[in-house]
Amino acid sequence: MQQYSLQLRRYREGRAASAGQFFPLRGVQGAKLQLILFGPPGAGKGTQAKLLVEQRAYVQLSTGDMLRAARASGSELGKQVAAVMDKGGLVSDDIVNQLIDQRLIAHQGAPGFIFDGYPRTLAQAQALDNLLARHADAIDLVVQLVVEEPALVERVAKRHAAEGRADDEPAAFKVRLRHYFNETAPLIEFYRGQGKLVGVDGMADIDTVARGIAMAIEAKGTALGHRIPAPEGSPGPASPKKRRRK
Ligand code: ADP
Repeated sequence: MQQYSLQLRRYREGRAASAGQFFPLRGVQGAKLQLILFGPPGAGKGTQAKLLVEQRAYVQLSTGDMLRAARASGSELGKQVAAVMDKGGLVSDDIVNQLIDQRLIAHQGAPGFIFDGYPRTLAQAQALDNLLARHADAIDLVVQLVVEEPALVERVAKRHAAEGRADDEPAAFKVRLRHYFNETAPLIEFYRGQGKLVGVDGMADIDTVARGIAMAIEAKGTALGHRIPAPEGSPGPASPKKRRRK
């Protein structure tokens, strides 16, 4: 654990030319993990991804954040995607695949990636497999945050009031939910078929969801034959509470 903390500090301080110098390779005794946080809009993927970045120094790859940054910068790409995004539509597979490709190259030494809001279509999932294969890598784990639809609507309405995002407006959000159910939800079976899917109750409070994700990550590490270290100073995942019989 202490050794891992040192590695993590060096990586954060940029002293490791490549995290591979300090993080042993996958399958040997590695700490590498490629994780997809999966779920409908408003499920809490971004919130949980940020916690994982803080705790484990993984790199968050959120296509939504990248596209919003492109818009804010006024770039050609930003102008191209603005209208589609505001209406709640899906940006083209080519555009988001390219954004991910660039980030994978830019962060080659990272101890792990958290894919957040990507892939959203089967074509994107297949593209991601190909992009990772170029780095001799693959998706290890897909954590599905399970949240009921009325809760999503309520959360996004709150976010709309607080942040004013055009695509959180009720009509656009309805379109996003429809895209999720039609194009994105089929990926659940795609990843379940590969034995990579783990469901976590996304209705619980933020810390409980985070513990559920931590348990899924550590269980995956054990299954892959290496231990994925728990975050610094963490007592480790809490044991699941026993249900009381009524
Ligand atoms: P959410 O809160 O729904 O998870 P995101 O921030 O991930 O929203 O995405 C915001 C918008 O950006 C989407 O509604 C869509 O227009 C666009 N977008 C983000 N990721 C993708 C993707 N992988 N494929 C297509 N469009 C995307």
